[in-house]
Amino acid sequence: MSEFTPPVREDLVGSAPYGAPQLDVPVRLNVNENPFALPDDIAVAMGRAVAAIAPDLHRYPDREALELRSHLAEYLKKESGVELAPEQVWAANGSNEVMHQLFLAFGGPGRTAISFDPTYSMYPEYARDTFTRYVTFARESDFSINIAVAIRQLKDLRPSLVLLTSPNNPTGTMLPTADLVQLLDAALAVGSVAIVDEAYAEFRTAGTPSALELLASYPNLVVSRTMSKAFGLAGARLGYAAASQSIVDALRIVRLPYHLSAVTQIVAITALQFSETLQAQVATLRSERDALAEWLSHQGYRVAKSDANFILFGIFADRDLVWQSLLDQGVLIRQTGPAGWLRVSIGTEEENDRFRQALVQATGTEQEAAR
Ligand SMILES: *Cc1c(COP(=O)(O)O)cnc(C)c1O
Repeated sequence: MSEFTPPVREDLVGSAPYGAPQLDVPVRLNVNENPFALPDDIAVAMGRAVAAIAPDLHRYPDREALELRSHLAEYLKKESGVELAPEQVWAANGSNEVMHQLFLAFGGPGRTAISFDPTYSMYPEYARDTFTRYVTFARESDFSINIAVAIRQLKDLRPSLVLLTSPNNPTGTMLPTADLVQLLDAALAVGSVAIVDEAYAEFRTAGTPSALELLASYPNLVVSRTMSKAFGLAGARLGYAAASQSIVDALRIVRLPYHLSAVTQIVAITALQFSETLQAQVATLRSERDALAEWLSHQGYRVAKSDANFILFGIFADRDLVWQSLLDQGVLIRQTGPAGWLRVSIGTEEENDRFRQALVQATGTEQEAAR
């Protein structure tokens, strides 16, 4: 066979595919999944719904996914009180795909996207894929955004995309509404699309408003959501966004034809009919999170204030050693965030207990190694 080196784009040579390790260990707390399996009755309803449409699978799906989008609009109204037309809601295979489409439509050569680090590690990849310049600014030591500095940067760089993540990953911290409004004003003034990534919105402290409430005032605002976290539906791959219709129309131009399979659409529609049951565990996860944050503080760690289903904590002299020791004990968490910090997703009560025990053990190992 003759030798062949595929002509990979120069800027991709040497890159590794993104992804946290998918290891088969007893306690998996590394990718912020919902730890609770779907209740049987919902799983059965999904199976029935798929069986009912299966004879039609010789046809392409509804390209515009309008039935799903109207169910999503209904859900958002229930969840946040904000009324949206189905045409203001867009859906794709995970919010990762929604965001990729936003970069395709609004990024591109000669254009800039800005974000505030530490933040979601996929953003630079969307920028790379779409030849968008990616500029990121450091957050303060409490992981808040310095608004005065951010506004100055917005005016200087005039980015076409601004990435605001709230609650932010990997820190779990919220962007206060007063700060968001100032950033949206500045973004609007320079013609930027502002994306508020609300992947973890359902875990926010009760009474905190969603950025959805600002959609009526800001035609440049996109609020991105997902069924991967609070809904416990990471395996179904369904993300969505709410925005002005002109932004949604731009996404319709860059999406691939029939991007959302009929199976995905019907599974998501079925899940939305059970949204309350599926999210019944959100309250449990929130109180488990607050209890774990308090325990970590008591152990002497620094703990970022989390409104999500994970906690960033540190600061370890050797986080890799701690991570490995946890893994050796069957507990998988995530090495992410600034040097010395680790992120743990909130699991079931039993999983969180196992994490606590393993961490006490791991910290002993780290201290011995330091001696
Ligand atoms: C998990 C996550 C998402 C959701 O990704 P999906 O593609 O919808 O599974 C989006 N943004 C952030 C910041 C996340 O952590």
